[in-house]
Amino acid sequence: MALLRLENVTRYFGGLAAAKNVSFEVQSGQIVGLIGPNGSGKTTCFNLVSGIYAPSEGHIYFNDALISGLPQHEIAAKGVARTFQISSYFPALTALDNVVTAHHTRLHSGLIAGIFQPGRTLREEAEALEHSRELLQFVGLEKRYRIVANALASAEQRRLMIAMALATRPRLLLLDEPGAGMTKDEQSKLTDLIFKVRDTGITIVLVEHHMRLIMGICDRIVVLSGGEKIAEGTPAEIQANEIVIEAYLGRSAAHA
Ligand code: ADP
Ligand code: MG
Repeated sequence: MALLRLENVTRYFGGLAAAKNVSFEVQSGQIVGLIGPNGSGKTTCFNLVSGIYAPSEGHIYFNDALISGLPQHEIAAKGVARTFQISSYFPALTALDNVVTAHHTRLHSGLIAGIFQPGRTLREEAEALEHSRELLQFVGLEKRYRIVANALASAEQRRLMIAMALATRPRLLLLDEPGAGMTKDEQSKLTDLIFKVRDTGITIVLVEHHMRLIMGICDRIVVLSGGEKIAEGTPAEIQANEIVIEAYLGRSAAHA
């Protein structure tokens, strides 16, 4: 089943089409790579799926329901989570508090409920704390609960952002360059973590420049260039695709 479907999605910024007539599907349970040169529209696609921007044209379906045009929090509540290329945690909060905070997008109790139903709020807070510990353990940060995010190593900060995205219990996780700045060893640990996330039943779309990581992990790959999809296929098909080699892999393979 296609969990995510983009149909002829276009997004203009002024005169520039950051995404142009992009169509692809992500099957439930798969890991799909979204690759292409800098500025090819990868992050824009994530922004469109997660509702930061609405498409200028076209439609996006999640679990067969139209999500394009919905506000961000409604799309998140349906089960779409993402990480960002840039640091997106509270630098002065501990790892644990960052993940607890990430839960609050999903907690039912707001301030009003907190006043009228204090029992329920306390229970939800306790559950969020417990789940946060489990998530930090899941991403390999169980010894780092009390460290402020700022003081974590950069590979640890990337893991923290994954734990924060998982706090919302998503069905689809969009990872935007989770391996940026990682050594080969850190990348292979990241690969293990991504497989572990997939094995819990979460579908993944992965933007990455490290070709070793992408080719070793993805079931399918979608290639963008200049906002347009130029190819789609298995890692083997993409590595052998002349158009992709010309537009992207030729250069990137040289410094991968
Ligand atoms: P990628 O993630 O593949 O590197 P992006 O999706 O970030 O590429 O950007 C694609 C193109 O769209 C770039 O030319 C970028 O400058 C432009 N772009 C993206 N977001 C905006 C925005 N909010 N306003 C104006 N231009 C944007
Ligand atoms: Mg990007």
